[in-house]
Amino acid sequence: MPGYKHPCKYCGKLVSSDDNMCPFCGKVNPVGDIRCPNCRSPIEEGQMRCSHCGFALQTICFVCGKTTFFGDYCQNCGQRLTVFCPKCKVEQPPIGEKCIKCGKPLKIRRK
Ligand SMILES: [Zn+2]
Ligand SMILES: [Zn+2]
Ligand SMILES: [Zn+2]
Ligand SMILES: [Zn+2]
Repeated sequence: MPGYKHPCKYCGKLVSSDDNMCPFCGKVNPVGDIRCPNCRSPIEEGQMRCSHCGFALQTICFVCGKTTFFGDYCQNCGQRLTVFCPKCKVEQPPIGEKCIKCGKPLKIRRK
């Protein structure tokens, strides 16, 4: 339903259901389901593994070094859990060693 508003799950302000980014706090995916970084199936925060593909949904944040649920943001420091490919600049969750688009090894910063 166009124009129907939902509260942003990060800041609570009302945003359109088709907004990809909250206009108030700037976070991505403000009202949609959290999706598995591997297969894009909807997942729930707190799951250890994706029920669809079995992907482990706990990861080490490459900014703060703490274990976090593999959602859109680190639960500890709030950093976006994505990296940019140094070659083709595609933003992606750090689920493998190589870029999902061009195959170049990703330089994932880990402390
Ligand atoms: Zn927000
Ligand atoms: Zn999955
Ligand atoms: Zn973090
Ligand atoms: Zn690439």
